[in-house]
Amino acid sequence: MEKKLLSVVVPCYNEEKVLDLFYYELEKVLDKIEYEYEIIFVDDGSKDGTAEIIKKKNTLDKRISLVSFSRNFGKEAGIYAGLTYSKGDIVVVMDSDLQHQPEVIVDMIKYIEEGYDTVTTKRVDRKGENVIKKVFSNLFYRIMQKITDTELVQGAQDFRMMKRNVVDAILSLKEYNRFSKGIFSWVGFKVKYIEVKTIERAAGETKWSFSSLLKYAIEGILAFSTVPLRISTMVGILISIFSFGLLVQIIVKALFLGTDVPGYPSIMTAILFIGGIQLIVIGILSEYVAKIYYEIKARPKFIVRDYIASGQNGDGNIEN
Ligand code: UDP
Ligand code: MG
Repeated sequence: MEKKLLSVVVPCYNEEKVLDLFYYELEKVLDKIEYEYEIIFVDDGSKDGTAEIIKKKNTLDKRISLVSFSRNFGKEAGIYAGLTYSKGDIVVVMDSDLQHQPEVIVDMIKYIEEGYDTVTTKRVDRKGENVIKKVFSNLFYRIMQKITDTELVQGAQDFRMMKRNVVDAILSLKEYNRFSKGIFSWVGFKVKYIEVKTIERAAGETKWSFSSLLKYAIEGILAFSTVPLRISTMVGILISIFSFGLLVQIIVKALFLGTDVPGYPSIMTAILFIGGIQLIVIGILSEYVAKIYYEIKARPKFIVRDYIASGQNGDGNIEN
């Protein structure tokens, strides 16, 4: 019987410091398993020697392929591109900084063979993270749980193994704004979570700052929930009811007690308050309009500058 193919998808952005070690560790594990394999490195517009290192590896090991982007499109695009180019019966997506330990692949395969469609890792601790990040992360997952139908698991990582049918399902979601934590959960299937410890990256630096994490959280909410729009409506209704009550009170008072002219502070407060609320509501609305704007343009999610296939050179014309 012919051996099955495992595709390893690795998005990389400025990872020259860690790639050699990563490849060494990965290869050790892949040589142990009962699968043919290919490693797809997606160079996400790196400015350092990342692409050169991978090209050199390709000349030595024909199971390696390289998809080089024309600029930095972000990790989500990298994952999408890697899945698009993957040919494996099963595909595993992992980071290149050894925070996702290659040995886990062996366990993942075990669960896939047991009948699971997807195997995902989940952190059990949040070692090495500061308190503020922890608090906001908890808050984010709590909010997401309340306002979306898509269940997000706290601590779940982008270290996943999937069967081909799951990969195809994920690729069938064509949206431009890709919040992959949500997308993976949205497609469903039989998922197994493996608990892992938090590991520091082997070398180089994380590309996440606090502000980029905050932006990511907002993207997630916008991509998977319209509850903020409903909240805006509710706030509008509540304020209308409140101001109507106030209006009645003023009219009744004027009828029975006569008008009292001094009312400047209360009028100013009301105008400013309502004005503020209106701006917030318009702001929320605009966030969604902006998303629609990007979706409607239907731009490609990534642009390939260079593609070196595993085995031979290809033209890289893959639709995305
Ligand atoms: N990455 C990428 N494009 C980016 C940022 C990151 O492909 O714009 C890759 C990066 O090379 C790494 C993975 O995504 O393989 C995770 O990035 P990082 O280690 O910076 O994130 P963290 O582990 O801190 O969440
Ligand atoms: Mg990392």
